Amino acid sequence: MGTRVSVELWHDDEVRGRDLVDEVLAEYRRIDARMSTYKSGSEISIINRSATAEPVVASDELFGLIDRALELSRRSDGAFDITYDSVGYLYDFRAGQRPSANEIDARLGAIDYRHVILDADANTIAFADPRVRINLGGIAKGYAIERGAMILEEAGVQYALLNAGGDTRVLGDRRGQPWIVGIRHPRADDQVVTRLPLVDEAISTSGDYERFFEEGGRRYHHIINPTTGAPTEGTLSVTVIGPDATMTDGLSTTLFVLGVDRGIEFIERMPQYEAIVVDAGGKLVYSSGLVTPTD
Ligand code: ADP
Ligand code: MG
Repeated sequence: MGTRVSVELWHDDEVRGRDLVDEVLAEYRRIDARMSTYKSGSEISIINRSATAEPVVASDELFGLIDRALELSRRSDGAFDITYDSVGYLYDFRAGQRPSANEIDARLGAIDYRHVILDADANTIAFADPRVRINLGGIAKGYAIERGAMILEEAGVQYALLNAGGDTRVLGDRRGQPWIVGIRHPRADDQVVTRLPLVDEAISTSGDYERFFEEGGRRYHHIINPTTGAPTEGTLSVTVIGPDATMTDGLSTTLFVLGVDRGIEFIERMPQYEAIVVDAGGKLVYSSGLVTPTD
């Protein structure tokens, strides 16, 4: 997943506790091996190579996650779109490379979630356009920690914190106190803009600082506006809090693309989810459930 992960848990039996941490890490590796576009043998890479020629049979797991991603695309009118990678793959943030305007133009039409055709009876995936590539980078880390939390819960663990980059899932509290999770300052990685007390919840932050390079005074970062094929502008970070980490991960990316006003409007329609947006000027904007505490 190209990110640092951590698992923290309480267990009465230390050996069992350590084994459970290993089980969670093994689950992350399993998901990464299936869903990473950086691995040429992963299921998603096979689909990217083959689904334009003919429908490809997918595992229930990958089919299910792609289905959830497409649902988020429909709800967000295409702000969240796993076909962003049809252009997105031309960016290399580490090498400071980006596509030219001509290269973007030649492929922009391939960014459209409606090009991904799922057949639930046959469990197949097909692409309607030969230029389509999909990438689950905006949702897979949340899915992985949600799976990790499920493993721990089924093993009877009551208190745990699972983190993968900007995504965190907590089980229970921290033995009587809420877990305190900080939201990173988008321009100072040793500072937080705020801290939140969390119990049994997920929290995901998307930022323009995770993967980027600068050129001519402009920051080129890893969240792509599907309508332009270029990195979005106007937001420094978006944090989403709610019950399910797959959703908070997908939603933080979604709101990042939607921008401050449309993003807050979008999250207000989802009663179980709240958001904190850091706008281009560094100002914090909260959704209404956070402004007015419910308890
Ligand atoms: P991070 O990976 O830093 O935690 P996000 O959860 O916001 O941040 O995911 C960003 C990733 O989402 C990008 O690296 C890319 O793989 C993917 N992505 C970029 N733009 C979009 C988009 N418009 N829709 C869906 N996924 C996207
Ligand atoms: Mg995300």
